[in-house]
Amino acid sequence: MLLEVNNVTKQYDIDGQILKAVDAVSLTADKAEMLSVVGHSGSGKTTLLSLMGGLTRPDTGTVIIDGIDLWALRDNQRSELRNRRMSFIYQFSSLIPTLTAIENIILPTAFGTFGADREEYAKELLGIVGLADKARAYPSHLSGGQQRRIAIARAFINDPEIVLADEPTGDLDEQSEAEIIRLFHRMNREKAVTFIIVTHNREIAGQTARQLRMTNGVLGSSGVNSSLMKK
Ligand code: ADP
Ligand code: MG
Repeated sequence: MLLEVNNVTKQYDIDGQILKAVDAVSLTADKAEMLSVVGHSGSGKTTLLSLMGGLTRPDTGTVIIDGIDLWALRDNQRSELRNRRMSFIYQFSSLIPTLTAIENIILPTAFGTFGADREEYAKELLGIVGLADKARAYPSHLSGGQQRRIAIARAFINDPEIVLADEPTGDLDEQSEAEIIRLFHRMNREKAVTFIIVTHNREIAGQTARQLRMTNGVLGSSGVNSSLMKK
C-alpha cells in the first residue's frame, strides 16, 4: 500500500473550544489509484490533505507512506521524503514573483538530485498546460488561471508518486479545467501517479475510481466507480 492513514485525528483549540477538524479518519490508496474527496467548506478536506502530506502532525493516528511512518522520521528526513515522492497543488497556489514561468516550474528540482533533462521536461509540462509561449513571462503578467496552470505544471517536475491536489481547478475556465483533468489522467496512466483530489466538481469526482466525502471531519465513502477500479 502506498499511502495509509490510520485513525488520524487533528483538533484545534479555538478559545477553549475543541474543534475536531479531522476526526478518526482512516483510508488507504494504492499506487496509481485516483481518489476524490468532496465535502462542504470547513469539513476538514484541506486539513486531511495536509496530514496525508506530512505537513500537519496528527494528534493521534499514523500516516504511512510506502511502509514509512512519516512522524517517526526526523524533520529533514520527512522533508526529503516529501520532496522526493509527493507533490502538492494548493488551493491558493503561489508562484515566486521574481522568477519566470519556466524558472518557477524548475524550482523544486533545486532541492534534490535531478538530471539536466529537467529544463526540457519543464518546457514539455508548460506545453501540456497550454502555455508553451509563456516560458519567459513573470507571474504578474499572467492571469490567475495561467498562474494556476504553471503551479500545476510545477507539481510534476520532480516525478512525484503521490499528488495531493486541493481544489486544483477552482478558478479555471471550463476548457483549462478539462485540460488539467486530462493531464492528471495522463500522469496516472503513463507514470502510475496516485492522485488525491479535493474538488467541488462532480464531473472530476465522477472520473475517479473512488469518491470520498468529508462531513464535519469524518470521512465516508460516497461512491465507487467499479469500471474505473484498477485490477
Ligand atoms: P475545508 O478544506 O474542508 O474547507 P479545513 O480543513 O480548511 O476545511 O478546515 C476544517 C476546520 O478546521 C474548519 O472549521 C477550520 O476553521 C478549522 N481550521 C483549519 N485550520 C485551522 C487552524 N490552523 N487553526 C484553527 N482552526 C483551523
Ligand atoms: Mg479547503
